[in-house]
Amino acid sequence: MLKPSVIKELKGIVGPDNLFTSPEELLVYSYDATRQESPPWAVARPASTREIAEILVLANRELFPVVPRGAGTGMSGGSVPVQGGLVLSLERMNRIVEIDGNDLVAVVEPGVVTGDLQREVESRGLFYPPDPASHEFCTIGGNVAECAGGLRAVKYGVTKDYVLGLEVVLPTGEIIRTGARTVKSVAGYDLTKLIVGSEGTLGIATSIILKLLPLPESVMTLSAFFADPDQAAGAAAAVIARRILPRALEFVDQGALRAVEAYLQDDLSGGAAAMLLVEVDGTPESCFREISRVHEVMTGAGAMRVARAETEADRERLWKARRSISPALYRIKPAKLNEDIVVPRSRIPDILRAVGRIGRRHGLQIVNFGHAGDGNIHTNVMFDEPDREKARSAVREILRETVRLGGSISGEHGIGLAKAAYLPLELGPGSLALMKKIKQTFDPNNVLNPGKIFPDSTGAA
Ligand SMILES: Cc1cc2nc3c(=O)[nH]c(=O)nc-3n(C[C@H](O)[C@H](O)[C@H](O)COP(=O)(O)OP(=O)(O)OC[C@H]3O[C@@H](n4cnc5c(N)ncnc54)[C@H](O)[C@@H]3O)c2cc1C
Repeated sequence: MLKPSVIKELKGIVGPDNLFTSPEELLVYSYDATRQESPPWAVARPASTREIAEILVLANRELFPVVPRGAGTGMSGGSVPVQGGLVLSLERMNRIVEIDGNDLVAVVEPGVVTGDLQREVESRGLFYPPDPASHEFCTIGGNVAECAGGLRAVKYGVTKDYVLGLEVVLPTGEIIRTGARTVKSVAGYDLTKLIVGSEGTLGIATSIILKLLPLPESVMTLSAFFADPDQAAGAAAAVIARRILPRALEFVDQGALRAVEAYLQDDLSGGAAAMLLVEVDGTPESCFREISRVHEVMTGAGAMRVARAETEADRERLWKARRSISPALYRIKPAKLNEDIVVPRSRIPDILRAVGRIGRRHGLQIVNFGHAGDGNIHTNVMFDEPDREKARSAVREILRETVRLGGSISGEHGIGLAKAAYLPLELGPGSLALMKKIKQTFDPNNVLNPGKIFPDSTGAA
């Protein structure tokens, strides 16, 4: 609990209207998309870097946890205040400060919704490629903290490839700037890259300089439906092996198709067992050439139906279905463990077969979909509450198999709470010890987002 005197000081910093303590308000900030829940002691909604710095100075004096929060769409429990303390919501810091079409950069506050930035830059002929499926409701600050990937990573990379520089409030309350407003900078250690993906444990990003690209002239989208998921997995790997780099290459298995078709009341696939969704961009000519080659690969791999989206409405229908899979699955089984494993792209067929075997052995349905072009598959282990331990065992086996195939236990969702126990499956003791020393150096009192990432993080605060 926070002492009344601390509450008073917090109100002094953010203003009484921006400090919440009622149980109803605390509930709203107690969970994220993992549905893990733990109420904070209070919620502050600062409006400036200075206010955040003052809060962290106070947290170090009084030793209470501070948990940064964007929109709470995280899939690893990163913004869940598992040790209580103060949730620091960045929702009021939501200004697009600048879009510079000469230098091709944007400067934004962390609370900007990703989709709002995408639309704004696109209206000026510019392009911000990172595109998490949650773009309509997640924030750039959350994307930076998780190094979010998304649908276009296969060609354009992930959030870290677009962050040129940051203003960061360190856990001790100091304010630093990293990187520069330039496409390259090698002055000292790359602190920008260290902060990006640090899951709100090393600092709070308060201003973000992003790299922009020119908006591609043309986009073409194709869907391919398969009677056998193995063929679809093979076709996804074959696209890359044929040296085609679409901007999106998404895999959707039978379980995900049935769920989303029921959710949207839309028979998209005519009963297919798997779908690949492929999108290319460039000039109209290059798009046409690439999409024709993709078409050939799909047919060669045995697709039962391949169709190009002829209109914007066709294209929107496909993407709406893809983006709705996650909520559709929650409707079937509110209890599910959603992993985001990533394997070398040629091993996608192997990992999908292994996941199938693990599901059958445990008698659990496992639904797979995701960014096959990156080797990044969201495996959703569906279960009823009494089977939770069984589901956990299945997850452990999937993660172990992922690492055995040369992959990683998290491609884009982060470790947070959800995967902390599994981190040693991938990282050796030397790497883990070094990461903990980095955390200790940044945050000697362990006030910023304690209890995350490290399996044995006890949180001194
Ligand atoms: C339907 C759905 C689809 C999704 N699809 C994708 C996808 O395709 N690709 C993908 O990568 N993710 C995806 N996600 C996961 C999620 O949207 C991303 O991880 C996103 O980056 C989280 O942003 P947020 O604003 O909701 O952050 P939150 O969930 O609020 O926080 C996430 C983490 O960031 C920290 N944080 C937030 N803001 C800051 C800040 N300014 N400074 C420091 N730390 C901060 C928090 O402490 C926490 O650790 C999806 C989620 C959902 C629900």
